[in-house]
Amino acid sequence: MEERYCQSCGTPMGPTDELYGTEADGSKNKNYCKFCYTDGVAQRYCQSCGMPMGPTDELYGTEADGSKSKDYCSYCYTNGAFPADCTMQEMIDYCVQPVLENMPGMTEEGARAMMNEFFPHLKRWQA
Ligand SMILES: [Zn+2]
Ligand SMILES: [Zn+2]
Repeated sequence: MEERYCQSCGTPMGPTDELYGTEADGSKNKNYCKFCYTDGVAQRYCQSCGMPMGPTDELYGTEADGSKSKDYCSYCYTNGAFPADCTMQEMIDYCVQPVLENMPGMTEEGARAMMNEFFPHLKRWQA
């Protein structure tokens, strides 16, 4: 079986279709992973903290020249640099609380498990 990589984030999608994105009709999209593409819509997440950045550039970080960064949010990235220099695990620790607030019913354990799966897909942590 050929190796398939997400055409957006480059994540290897493995031998099954489990990581494939989904179309609006629920079918699988073989070009993008489920983190980049769900229900027929390309998702933009901050490639550092995993926050969904929505349809506008309002939450995008800024480059040194003042232009918008499409990869990182304004909390993680300003003027072309990361103000908070931290490890992936520190970022997960930091994000647990907001995730719990945004996802009613989620447990701390569940939130950590989800982020431990999701964060290695993010550009900042793929070194
Ligand atoms: Zn992807
Ligand atoms: Zn961020």
